Amino acid sequence: MSVLVVGSIALDHVKTPVEEHAELLGGSASYAAVAASFFSPVNLVGVVGSDFPKRHVDYFGQRRIDLAGLQTVEGKTFRWSGEYHWDLNTRETRSVELNVFEHFSPELPASYTDTPYVLLANIAPKLQSHVLDQINEAKFVIADTMDLWISIAKDDLLALLKRVDMLILNDGEARQLTGETSLIRAGGAIRRMGPKYVAIKKGEHGSLLFGENAFFSCGAYPLEDIHDPTGAGDTFAGGLAGYLASLDNGPVTFERLRKAVVYGSVLASYNVEAFSLERLRSLTCQDLEQRYRSFKLMSHFEVLD
Ligand code: AMP
Repeated sequence: MSVLVVGSIALDHVKTPVEEHAELLGGSASYAAVAASFFSPVNLVGVVGSDFPKRHVDYFGQRRIDLAGLQTVEGKTFRWSGEYHWDLNTRETRSVELNVFEHFSPELPASYTDTPYVLLANIAPKLQSHVLDQINEAKFVIADTMDLWISIAKDDLLALLKRVDMLILNDGEARQLTGETSLIRAGGAIRRMGPKYVAIKKGEHGSLLFGENAFFSCGAYPLEDIHDPTGAGDTFAGGLAGYLASLDNGPVTFERLRKAVVYGSVLASYNVEAFSLERLRSLTCQDLEQRYRSFKLMSHFEVLD
């Protein structure tokens, strides 16, 4: 089955304590769509400017990513610039140029309105709701968000939460949204806002999955060298959604979501090994399976008798 991915498509400028690169392919939808395409076909909805390099569009096309929902508008592509601190877990946004993103309205081609899995990657919650208005009946809807929307569009976000099956956000955002310091309390509080499932990402410390009377704690795959953490969350969400869509037509259960979270984490661990989407370009399904297996071995322990 296919996954509909809507979000930002960007040209990023990223600075880490050791390297700096500009004009990189980025954006929440770029990472999420490529990650999902490791498991399932993707329908992509987004906007780029007339300056967007053709090679990036070709790359999407070479993966299982349908581009009927990609709008190209006269003007400049959305640009984002960020700088990481020494721990590579915290960063500052240096600049944002909305450009063609400013007047973006995600419009779904008729061929997309029955896509069973929907991933609303990080964009304004009003736009995420506008996508849901055009969907006939989705099997499972996942939304991602960021601190900016919790600060400036909280009411829109709360309205969206009543319409989605799962919310993915990071630890700081979960605390900001709920006012809780405990992430365990925050997970429960967000479930009460609407989504049946919540995944809270903790950067290099893994993620937490919350369901009805169900909880799963997933570590992060241990890496010696992290080059660029940008897009790790979007890759996690895309991998998770793509894996779910690759399964048979049965219901989305907590057990399936546990495995989806692990696949999302494995994909994200590869993504941070290089800038932009470079590591995902050379990644194979065999690489994924191999890391999944070693991750399982290092996370497993027996219940004491
Ligand atoms: P992440 O590292 O998961 O937070 O995602 C980083 C990506 O999000 C970058 O490639 C940016 O281009 C994109 N991004 C940054 N700010 C925004 C925004 N306000 N709306 C949509 N996408 C954004």
